[in-house]
Amino acid sequence: MTSYKELGLVNTKELFKKAVSGGYALPAYNFNNMEQMQSIIQACVETKSPVILQVSSGARKYANQNILKNMARGAVEYAHELGYDIPIVLHLDHGDSFELCKDCIETGFSSVMIDGSHLSYDENVALTKKVCEFAHSQKDYVTVEGELGVLAGVEDDVSSEHSHYTQPSEVIDFVGKTKVDSLAISIGTSHGRAKFKPEQCTRDANGILIPPPLRFDILEEIEKKIPGFPIVLHGSSSVPIEYVHMIEKYGGKLTDSVGIPEEQLRKAAKSAVCKINIDSDGRLAMTALVRKVLVEKPDEFDPRKWLGPARDELKKLYSHKNQNVLGSAGQA
Ligand SMILES: [Zn+2]
Repeated sequence: MTSYKELGLVNTKELFKKAVSGGYALPAYNFNNMEQMQSIIQACVETKSPVILQVSSGARKYANQNILKNMARGAVEYAHELGYDIPIVLHLDHGDSFELCKDCIETGFSSVMIDGSHLSYDENVALTKKVCEFAHSQKDYVTVEGELGVLAGVEDDVSSEHSHYTQPSEVIDFVGKTKVDSLAISIGTSHGRAKFKPEQCTRDANGILIPPPLRFDILEEIEKKIPGFPIVLHGSSSVPIEYVHMIEKYGGKLTDSVGIPEEQLRKAAKSAVCKINIDSDGRLAMTALVRKVLVEKPDEFDPRKWLGPARDELKKLYSHKNQNVLGSAGQA
């Protein structure tokens, strides 16, 4: 049994309160390996941004939970060494059972998501409530994110063919019964790097897909029902076309890639949306640079020589997000 405080981590409670009143959103970046973790911490220290390090159940399987926990501890010490102690949260992304959430809480996570969005409403309430009761009764309060509404797209073990928007009429009841600390909603974001089918989009003069806009009307209705309550957006990568082009230039193929435009996320971050999940953009940046280096330097076989440039690019991407999209720069 490890409490997150022993690792130097914090939960989301105070961070969300400040983010909602301050009109910005915290970055929630997924990580599976050392280079991703280093680049996240470098970017967030340099831009003085608080950060949520996210681990999916797929990441736990890939990297081992004990290693990830100790990497989070290492992240805290790394930030300190870099000269600025930013608040760091270790968060389980898309927990799908009470047991998984409990296991994470007992191994040092400061925050968990229980995703009961695929269940019936009543089952979602019951499961989320059970996780909250456990998380909140720990010696050190662990924060819990629930979800209402379903996002389309594919992300690790989570996939759904169809989305349905969050129903504003349900949020007061859900938050009241479960006691969740934050709520993930569905207003048109989507998991993965092909967030919409081409037929859902229009195209610009260059043939690049333009996605349908987010449903800010639903977000506003939800905010009216639960004023100031922390809202979370999943599936919020922008899928930069430069990375897609770089990947395709160096041998990859990513047909019909489309993400959420950054201006829309900036607008959302100014509302009660206080956590924005970004995973695919990091995957794209990393893959683009690895492909580029390996194609341009066919005799290179030292992994540091292709992982290093990928890490530098990731850091640039995360700094940009903190400063220009989320508004979290300078808030730590
Ligand atoms: Zn998600």
